[in-house]
Parts: sequence; structure tokens; C-alpha cells
Amino acid sequence: MRFDNQVIAVTGGAQGLGFAIVEQFIEEGAQVTIIDIDQKAIDQALHSLSSDSVDSICSDVTDAAQVNEIISTIKEKHGRIDVLVNNAGIIRDNVIWKMPEEDYDSVMKVNLKGPWLMCREVAPIMRSQNSGRIVNIASRSWLGNVGQSNYSASKGGLVSMTRVLALELGKNNITVNAVAPGLIDTPMTRSLDPEVYKMLEQSNPCKKAGKPADIAHTVAFLSSDEAGFINGQVIHVDGGKSIGASVQ
Ligand code: NAP
Repeated sequence: MRFDNQVIAVTGGAQGLGFAIVEQFIEEGAQVTIIDIDQKAIDQALHSLSSDSVDSICSDVTDAAQVNEIISTIKEKHGRIDVLVNNAGIIRDNVIWKMPEEDYDSVMKVNLKGPWLMCREVAPIMRSQNSGRIVNIASRSWLGNVGQSNYSASKGGLVSMTRVLALELGKNNITVNAVAPGLIDTPMTRSLDPEVYKMLEQSNPCKKAGKPADIAHTVAFLSSDEAGFINGQVIHVDGGKSIGASVQ
């Protein structure tokens, strides 16, 4: 019970990685708020969790007014926020010469501006508590990936932002870290062409996709007391894909 009665907010928490993160925190005693734009997915998540330890807010993390409302609602209800997980993210893949400008803008907005807005609202609360943990879900793709000039740039930006916030908030006993997943089996990756999905699995040193729980365990560790001196880091959870290219 590492998170007994801790107040935790998870964006994009209704499905995929976010849902696994929510499940993990609830199992370890936390009060969790799911923040997601997809009401249907929220309803399914709440039904399947069937727990008094979870709340939900249907909101868009790219909208500053909605983000202000999200954080005020959690603060009013629980009086504090111990952990923020910025997990909501989208993909709109294409090679640059075929990528519409709106697909660049929407990916940057959800994957980079969303976490920035959330951190801006949460920072004063965590500073006044003199404690807190922020975990940003980046991606192995921040290192570069064909067809993801928008997505890789957004996740690279998120890594840079993580490092800056670690510097700005460390003195207030707040750590800020990033997790960079490789291919994980979620609704997002299952929306890819099945042939592409198979190819991605085969290009992994472990020859498989990861499970959402692999990410949830890492997020929980970074949010725990044991990780109190880990700050500004990116932890790759990708079966070794980030090490380099290999042909086998
Ligand atoms: P997912 O299955 O699509 O779940 C993401 C959730 O976030 C969805 O419920 C989505 O709603 C919600 N969301 C999207 N835009 C939002 C917004 N503006 N405000 C609030 N919620 C919003 O994705 P996932 O695969 O679990 O990915 C979670 C995170 O991990 C993302 O940041 C992704 O980039 C990162 N990641 C995933 C993988 C992977 O292999 N799965 C690998 C590396 C990194 P909708 O259904 O309406 O879009």
C-alpha cells in the first residue's frame, strides 16, 4: 500500500496505459481521478473498476480553462494532489510530405501543451504542500521514428519540459520524471494496420509488444517514496528498442 490515501490524477486514464496506471494506484490504496475526453471510455473504466477510490472528470487537457477547473475540482474535494500523471496522448502518423498541418497542431496540443497546462496548475499546489510527484508519459519515439515528425517532436518536447520542471521544482520536494514506452498493446496501437503492428513487434529485441502493466509498474515506482532522489530522468520501458537498430 505505497499510496495509501494519496490523491492522484491521471490524464487519459480511461483506457490503455492510463487505465492500467489507475488500476495500479487503486490497488495500492490511492484515491484516483481519471481525466479523459472520452465519456464512453470513462463509463467503461468506472464500471470495470467498480471502486469507491476512483472519480472521473470528462475534460480536454488542451483547454486552459478546463484544466483550471479540473485541478480546482480535485483540490476542493481532496485538499491536495500528491501525484500527477500526464498520460493523455494521440498519434496522427504520416511522412512529412503528406502530413496535414492540423495533424501537426493537434498532436503538439494534446501531447505537449496538455501536460504543460496540467503542470502549470498543479505546481503551486505541490509547492505549497512541499511535496509531489509528476510523471510524464513520453515515448521511445522521442529518439526519432519515420512517420512521426509531429509525435516524436511532441514527446522530445515533453522530455525537455520534464528536465526543466525537475530543475524548477526539486527544491520543493517535487520530482518530475518521464517514462518512454516502446510498443505497448493498447487501443491506440491496435488502431494501427495489423501488418504494421506485427512488424513493430518483430523489430523489438524482445520480439513482442509490452503490456500496459509494464508501464504502470514503472509509473508507480517513480511516484513512490523509494524514487525520491530520481529527478528529471527518462526511463525507457521498451524491451531494449531504444538501445539501437538490430537485424536478426
Ligand atoms: P489510448 O489507448 O488512445 O488512450 C489515451 C486516452 O487519452 C484515450 O481515452 C483518449 O481519448 C484520451 N485523450 C486523448 N486526447 C485527450 C485530451 N485532449 N484530453 C483528455 N484525454 C484525452 O492511448 P495509449 O496507447 O494508452 O497511450 C497513452 C500514452 O502513452 C500516450 O501519451 C501515448 O503517446 C503514450 N505511448 C503509448 C505507446 C503505446 O504503444 N501504446 C507507446 C509509447 C507512448 P480518445 O479515445 O477520445 O482519443
